This record gives sequence, structure tokens and C-alpha cells, in this order.
Amino acid sequence: VPRIAEFDPELAEAMAAELVRQEDHVELIASENYASKRVMEAQGSVLTNKYAEGYPGKRYYGGCEHVDVAERLAIERVKQLFGADYANVQPHSGSQANAAVYLALLSPGETILGMSLAHGGHLTHGAKVNFSGKIFNAVQYGVDENGLIDYAEIERLAQEHRPKMLVGGFSAYSQKIDWERMAAIAKSVDAYFFVDMAHVAGLVAAGVYPNPVPHADVVTSTTHKTLRGPRGGIILARANEALEKKFQSLVFPGTQGGPLMHVIAAKAVAFKEALEPGFKAYQQQVVKNAQAMAATLIERGYKIVSGGTENHLMLIDLIGREVTGKDAEAALGAAHITVNKNAVPNDPRSPFVTSGLRIGTPAVTTRGYTEKECRDLAGWMADVLDAPTDEAVIARVREAVTAQCRAFPVYA
Ligand code: PLP
Repeated sequence: VPRIAEFDPELAEAMAAELVRQEDHVELIASENYASKRVMEAQGSVLTNKYAEGYPGKRYYGGCEHVDVAERLAIERVKQLFGADYANVQPHSGSQANAAVYLALLSPGETILGMSLAHGGHLTHGAKVNFSGKIFNAVQYGVDENGLIDYAEIERLAQEHRPKMLVGGFSAYSQKIDWERMAAIAKSVDAYFFVDMAHVAGLVAAGVYPNPVPHADVVTSTTHKTLRGPRGGIILARANEALEKKFQSLVFPGTQGGPLMHVIAAKAVAFKEALEPGFKAYQQQVVKNAQAMAATLIERGYKIVSGGTENHLMLIDLIGREVTGKDAEAALGAAHITVNKNAVPNDPRSPFVTSGLRIGTPAVTTRGYTEKECRDLAGWMADVLDAPTDEAVIARVREAVTAQCRAFPVYA
């Protein structure tokens, strides 16, 4: 087998070091996971060579008969997984799926109402630095003083601004969302209701988080977070011929060229994995593990935004503490615990510093952690956060983390 190592040792070294990092450091970034070797096998396959602009059976290139099979499998499986009538599996990423949806349903300058980045929304939900905030008139909602989505505020903003689209979904929110209530708000002002379920898609597929598909006009997701597939995006909807046509043409040719057929094959693999019975148990454990970590951190005196978690993630609120999100991320990183600093609602510090950390359990649960390991881990995190400049504490935690990781290898 030809190896990168002989051809390009410099790159091979970086790749090998990344494998060691993924095995020996504990991964708590809420948007990350470990894809299976089968998913990676599909991504590393000859399907990467194929141009297939268009859709199965209607391509602009010859020789698509085999990649058509792969794409049809991905479409049928993802429809089954989420109870959708329509699926497009071509978006290269979550952001691209969202771009296609916006451009399919809105004209530049029209108003969207989404969750602000500062309160847990995603860049593509109307942030000023993103196309969604540049092309459209973005009005933003957030959470109340208890860290909970403020439906009354959404309703008030919807009445005041009459958006053409209400956007649901988040990157940093740890509670369940009442999709039905949001759909009713959208309907009351004749707006489309669009849900970006990227973070919770795996939980939704397993039935442990409410499914937005029955309530929204359109739903997008990434495939690489809780869903544990390759990096990529999808668009789902209930039957609506007029909308389907728009989504199809706004993905291709509207916002993309040739689909990544190797990634679409990997999506098909991941969706088949998600349809297996073990996937439900995995997602249930993801939530139990997150709740175990939240309980331990609260016992140790740390504040969790909204008071706990009903999904795979939580935000640790460091407002009023000396340690910043940035310094906490670095101290935990030195102890081989990978997290990301994250703004918390009403954060007094800048987005580059922040007063919070976002942590999530999809990756550690894939490697086999249960509540016990998660409680131990949260305790070690609290040890570091209590004394972020104490080298002895960091060294002790690093040793404990390494031993724990080695007891639960990912790809061995
Ligand atoms: N939507 C949400 C809610 C996300 O959290 C993310 C990624 O973090 C995205 C979309 C964007 O996905 P991608 O990074 O694949 O563009």
C-alpha cells in the first residue's frame, strides 16, 4: 500500500501527531466526534474522482451510474432517519446548506429573525460578520436572565419586525426547544420556519431530542457532530413540491458545483450506522454523560448556563471569576483536556477572551465513557479551573487524563 510517509514525511508526521492527540487527549469540543473507520474508508475512496453535477438520474456528466447508487442510498436513509419526505445530501457543509435555504426562500434585504451568536446561535443565523447578516436584515433574539430561550421575546420581535423567516437552532444551548411553539410564532406573522438542528441531529435521529422536521418548513444539519458522520451538510423537509424545487436548484447550480461523491458515500455509511439499534443507546449515553458532568461541576461550585443540560452540551459560566474563558481553555489544554472558550449570555469580556467554556460529550461517549468517567473528568476539570496557573495540578490531571484515555482507545 503506498503511504504518505514515504512521499511526504513532513505531512505524515503532522497526521500521525494528530492521531496521537485524538487518542491521548480528551475531546470535549461539543461539535466534534470520532467518525467510524467505515465512514473514513468511504471518504478515502475513488469516489473522490467523480464529477456528478446534477442529481441521481439527471447528471451533466457521463459515468454516474455508480455514484447515483451512493447518493440514492444516502437520500433514502436520511429521510427514514428523520421522518422527512425530502432530502438533499449535497451541501458541502452546514453553512452551505444554510446558504442554499436562505437564497431559496428569501431575497436580499428581507428580514430574518434568528438567535444571536452571543446567546448561543450560529454565525449563519444572522451574525453581522456572516453572509446571513450582510445580505439580509437580521434581527436577533436571545435567552432570558435564567439562560432559557425567551419565546415571549421572539413573539414580540416577530410582531414588531415581521420577518420573512424565523430561524431556530443553536451552537451553544443546553435545553430542549419547543419547535411547535416557534412554528406557531412563525405562522402568526406569515414567516417561513427554518430549523438548523446541526448540534442535536444525532440526538434527534435517536429520538432523545424533539424532532423539528414535523414543525418546520425546512431543516438543515451538519453530518459530523452528534450524527457522527463525515464533515458535510444536509437539507430536509416535509412534502412540498414548490419548496423542494427551490432547494434543489439553490444547492446546484445556485450555490455549489460538483457534489463531493466520496463524502456523500460516507454520509450513506453514517446514516446506516445511525439506523442501527446501538445508535439510540449511544445518544442516550451522550445525554447521561453530559448530565453527570454538569452535576459534578455544579457540586464543585461552577455555574452552568440555564442550570443544567438536556442535550449533549453545556456552557460553564465564568463571569465574576478571575480566570477567563481563554485562560481556562489554555490551562485545560495543558492538562490534555480539549475545550473551546465561548461567550456566555451578557458576557462582559470580548469574544476573543470570553467568560465561558463550552463542553460536550459526543466524542468521549463514542470512545466508551460512561457517567463514572465523566464525573472523574469533570472533577479534574474543576481542579484545573480552581488553580489554572498551578503547574503541579495541571501535571497531575494530565497524567490522570492520559491514563483514562488509554483505557478507552478510539481507533485501536
Ligand atoms: N449550524 C450550526 C448550528 C452549527 O453549530 C454549525 C457549526 O458549528 C454550522 C451550522 C456550520 O457548519 P459547518 O462548519 O459545516 O459550515
